[in-house]
Amino acid sequence: LFNKELGQHILKNPLIAQGIVDKAGLRTSDVALEVGPGTGNLTMKLLEKAKKVVAVEMDPRLAAELAKRVQGKPEQKRLEIIIGDVIKTELPYFDICISNTPFQISSPLIFKFLEHRPLFRCAVLMFQREFALRLIAKPGESLYCRLSVNAQMFFKIDHIMKVGKNNFKPPPQVDASVVRMEPRNPPPSVDFAEWDGLLRIAFNRKNKMVEDPLNIKQKVQNVLESIAMAETRAAKIDLDGFLKYADLFS
Ligand code: SAM
Repeated sequence: LFNKELGQHILKNPLIAQGIVDKAGLRTSDVALEVGPGTGNLTMKLLEKAKKVVAVEMDPRLAAELAKRVQGKPEQKRLEIIIGDVIKTELPYFDICISNTPFQISSPLIFKFLEHRPLFRCAVLMFQREFALRLIAKPGESLYCRLSVNAQMFFKIDHIMKVGKNNFKPPPQVDASVVRMEPRNPPPSVDFAEWDGLLRIAFNRKNKMVEDPLNIKQKVQNVLESIAMAETRAAKIDLDGFLKYADLFS
């Protein structure tokens, strides 16, 4: 019935659905974005309060089911359903976002949100537990990675609740967690491509590089090593540390 490849795990616990929507702090003037509405359990709760809900769903069958759910009701006019891949969709303006995120797009969705403008107020997102823990990992912890540094650079992130896999139908392989992400306002003034490039190199150091004097990555790595990066593992550098390196490079 449900498509595994699209990460279709329907949240069947209404208390958790309500908790997610409550944590978003919706106002009646808000436009809410929902990624992957599925059958619409979270969507209907959003519609109770938001001025407008834009829901992006990749599966036309589920999109039709959701459309049917509001058909002929007053909510119908306030719900816009976009059928398609959210990663490839140009996002509309929104104030808050909620999603029981299909696990395949967790990382691309975060990177899409990093660059989204104008800034939204907050996003309350359900992820696989380990992905959520990577978002909030600190220097020195085993899950600390390029995603952690990027996410924490651009968002204030709070872990809201743990959600056991049996709250979903069908149950996924692993447990989930809900996080609340608030864009830092104003956003840090770094050139994102440059900043992320630095992080990619820093966190890829262990990978063997091709011997090539023209390899730009190798040159950058040489500079990093000349400024003592060689002594400091990316796994232990905090935000300020990375900012210092970004500064040296520019
Ligand atoms: N919101 C529902 C709930 O909480 O019960 C369903 C959540 S289910 C984990 C993820 C939903 O995202 C599915 O409906 C799936 O079809 C949809 N989906 C998967 N990949 C997508 C993508 N790239 N863009 C938009 N929706 C996607």
